[in-house]
Amino acid sequence: MADPAASAGLAFYGPDEVRRLLDYDGCIGAVREAMAAFTAEGAAQPLRSIVELAPGKLFGLMPGHLSAARGFGAKLLSVFADPARPGRSAHRGVVVLFDPESGEPACIADAGAVTEIRTAAASAVATERLARPDSRTLAIFGAGVQASSHARALARVRELRHILIWARSPARAAPVAESLEREVGIPVRVVADPREAADGADIICTVTGSPTPILLGQWVRPGTHVNVVGSSHAGPVEIDSALLLTSRYIVDSRRSALAAAAEFLLAREAGLIDERHIAAEIGEVLLGRVRGRTRPDEITVYKSLGHIVQDLAALAYLHGRAPRHRAPA
Ligand code: NDP
Repeated sequence: MADPAASAGLAFYGPDEVRRLLDYDGCIGAVREAMAAFTAEGAAQPLRSIVELAPGKLFGLMPGHLSAARGFGAKLLSVFADPARPGRSAHRGVVVLFDPESGEPACIADAGAVTEIRTAAASAVATERLARPDSRTLAIFGAGVQASSHARALARVRELRHILIWARSPARAAPVAESLEREVGIPVRVVADPREAADGADIICTVTGSPTPILLGQWVRPGTHVNVVGSSHAGPVEIDSALLLTSRYIVDSRRSALAAAAEFLLAREAGLIDERHIAAEIGEVLLGRVRGRTRPDEITVYKSLGHIVQDLAALAYLHGRAPRHRAPA
C-alpha cells in the first residue's frame, strides 16, 4: 500500500463519498477476497466488544486486520435505538484503516455507509455460493437500510425476476418497494403475510430489528437459501429453531458465531444442537475446503454477524479508487 498520509494527508470519506466510491460489484469482490483470506490465514482476530451504555444504546469496538500486507484497523460504532421509531436503529461511527508498513492511519470513513454496503455485499457473496443457480425470487423481511442495500447487492449475483418485501408495517414498506423497483429494475411487491413471502421465495434475507423470530422453518420451502442478518449479536433472534435445525448452517466466522449467533446459542442451550451444527465458515466454502450447498432441495442458512475484515476490505477498495490517491499518469 502506498503511503497516502504522507502525500495527501489523512483522507476522510463521508457518507456521500462512501456511497459514490464503494460500488456494489467492487465491494462484493473485496469482501469475497477478504473472507477467503480470513479463513485461509486462520489468524486469531479479536472478538467484537459491545458495551451497553444504556437500554437501546450500544457501543461497539471491532478491531482486526486484513492479510499482513493489506492493512489493519478498527470500526468504532454506536448502535442507538431511535426513540421516535421503536425497532429502528442507527449505525454511526467511523472505520479507520492503517497502513501496514508505516503504521500511519491511512484513511477514515463513515461507518454507517460502509456498514450499509459491506453487509449486503457479504450476503451477496454467501448467496452467490449457496443459493440455487436458478433462484429467481428474493424475499426480504424488513424495510430499513439493510433491506434496500440487500436488494441492490443480491440482484448482482442472481438473475432475479421478483422481489417480495414483508415488513411489520406494509404502509411504511410501500414507498421503499416503489423506490427499489425504480432503482433495481425488478418488480418489487409488498406482501402482508410473512408465510406468503417465505413460500414464494428462492432466497430470503432477514434484516429486521426484531427480538423474536419473524421467519419460521415451517414456511421455508426446500431448496431455499436464507441470509440471517438482523440479529447480529447475542440476544435478538430472527429465525426459529426449526429453521436452524433443518438447515445447512454456514457462518461468517466460526469463533464469532460460537460467541454471539443468537439462534445457535438458544438451540445449543436447549440441547438441540452442538458445535457440529456449524457446517462451515463461508471462507471454507470460498476456498473449496467444504461444500456449500450439497443438494438442490437443501435449505442453506448464512449467519451474518458482520466482521471487521469486511469493513477494512471495503475501505481499502474505496480508498484505492479515490481520485486523489491514484498514482500520477
Ligand atoms: P433499520 O432501523 O433501518 O431497519 C430496521 C427494520 O426492522 C425496519 O424495517 C423495522 O420495521 C424492522 N423491525 C424492527 N423491529 C421489528 C419487529 N419487532 N418485527 C418486525 N420488524 C421489525 O435497520 P438496518 O436496516 O440498518 O438494520 C437491520 C438489522 O440488521 C438491525 O438489527 C441491525 O442491527 C442489523 N445489522 C446487522 C449487520 C451485520 O453485519 N449482520 C450490519 C448492520 C445491521 P419498521 O419499518 O416498521 O420500522
